[in-house]
Amino acid sequence: MLRGIMMDQQLLVSSLIVHAARAHGDTEIVSRTVEGGMHRYTYADAELRSRRLAQALAKLGVGEGERVGTLAWNGYRHFEIYYAVSGSGAVVHTVNPRLFPEQIAWIINHADDQYVFFDLTFAALVEGLAAHCKGVKGWVAMTDRAHMPSIKVPNLLCYEELIEPHKGDYAWPELDEWSAAGLCYTSGTTGNPKGVLYSHRSTVLHAYNASLPDSLNCSAATTILPVVPMFHVNAWGIPYLAPMNGAKLVFPGAGLDGKSLHELFEGEKVTTTAGVPTVWLGLLNYLRDNKLKLSTLKTAIVGGSACPPSMIADFEKEHGVDCVHAWGMTEMSPLGTLARIKGKHLASTHDERFALRCKTGRIIYGVDMKIVDGEGRELPHDGKAFGDLLVRGYCVTAGYFRGEGGNVLEKDEHGRNWFRTGDVATIDPDGYMQITDRSKDVIKSGGEWISSIDLENIAVSHPAVAEAAVIGIAHPKWDERPLLIVVKKPDATLTREELLKFYEGKIAKWWMPDDVAFVDQLPHTATGKLLKTKLRTDFKGHKLPTA
Ligand code: ADP
Repeated sequence: MLRGIMMDQQLLVSSLIVHAARAHGDTEIVSRTVEGGMHRYTYADAELRSRRLAQALAKLGVGEGERVGTLAWNGYRHFEIYYAVSGSGAVVHTVNPRLFPEQIAWIINHADDQYVFFDLTFAALVEGLAAHCKGVKGWVAMTDRAHMPSIKVPNLLCYEELIEPHKGDYAWPELDEWSAAGLCYTSGTTGNPKGVLYSHRSTVLHAYNASLPDSLNCSAATTILPVVPMFHVNAWGIPYLAPMNGAKLVFPGAGLDGKSLHELFEGEKVTTTAGVPTVWLGLLNYLRDNKLKLSTLKTAIVGGSACPPSMIADFEKEHGVDCVHAWGMTEMSPLGTLARIKGKHLASTHDERFALRCKTGRIIYGVDMKIVDGEGRELPHDGKAFGDLLVRGYCVTAGYFRGEGGNVLEKDEHGRNWFRTGDVATIDPDGYMQITDRSKDVIKSGGEWISSIDLENIAVSHPAVAEAAVIGIAHPKWDERPLLIVVKKPDATLTREELLKFYEGKIAKWWMPDDVAFVDQLPHTATGKLLKTKLRTDFKGHKLPTA
């Protein structure tokens, strides 16, 4: 091999904040705090405080590769923890506080977190957890002395007191880029959650990929507000890609309701945001009810669950916002595809472009994907054939923490590894992928598959429907038939017949749901996805009128 003669510089998480402090030192990070009020400072301030926290972690004895947990909203202290922990060679483990306490305790113990940092919102939760997490050496309240919670927890520490004695005379260590930087657990709707362990290398490369014009399109002129929590796959990489590009960062704290978000979007002149569909539903409804507009927002990235076409249309029509449908997984760091148009589509009609933007999107550089049939044979990219979706790439996991879940990789005929996503999808000739279902959620009717996502999207485009889920119900003749479960908008009237009529002409006849059930609310996972396992249990004995 003739080796290239380039400098040997490892791709390290710390380099992102160091770069931001040097090149964008006065660019702001604005946070809505849990204590109340707003906090503002700069990348230069954040980098210094991260170094001070790194010194505090060293003093606590946190060693290389050891895990440090967080139970926290999006805010400046959480951001400092990201850099102090990973930058110093330890592993930041963001725990989703919306999980059940038993699951949280299980995850903290499985990860063997040495310390856990928490926002005041979660003080009571921590008090309950402490007795079940004996391995945790200390619990750090992310606040100052004046706001310390009065809870009974062994070795309760105060964040500001912890960093206070340190001056920041600390040099970020030159780590190996393959060393672990972050740990996220999948939401574990089936079985125990599994840990995905990101490296410095994958984190930095993902930040590049996610910044690109056809990804989040982030620059030093961007003001970005991650609505997606920092405990949900690292807020899709935003805490890393914002400093990489010198974008102004706006952290919403615990205020994810329509009113709080609108205030922050307008007050801070946010241009780009990202989050799951349920949050945007809340925001769009709030704006409509209060006759408000989004005047600075240009782009809303929507993923985590299928983005209904009606949401893309509403964002565009009501606010002039480009709503970009995206897809990914914890196992993919997470970004995989985004539904942005290509140059050749500029000549297409608005409706043609709209249809493309409703798809789940094209792969970004660094990710490859294919669909296969039951025998593992690759299926054509004709937009019709659907099969199991497999991915590969340098930001895709090669296994789970502590070897859980066994070997997750499959080799192709060239000996290359692929990861099975568990999603079922089509891919069209232009490379636009469309997820039709989770493989465990597809409805198998008479040997053919019905897409629950397509049926749900139609339901939520009805003006009287707030939310909808479709599941398969056992049927004596067809194996399974679709049941539509609907939450009506407050004060809306809607009958079963009216809703089924709404489907006519929009789908093949045999896709028509066999029944409609109206409910007050639908169950969700800790990351805002429909919890279909629960729905299947709840409606197990449901008698379809066609059965
Ligand atoms: P999360 O932390 O978001 O729950 P997971 O890794 O558990 O991440 O979930 C990833 C799964 O979420 C995907 O495999 C897919 O089933 C679903 N998903 C994410 N984005 C979309 C999307 N745009 N459309 C349909 N499903 C999606």
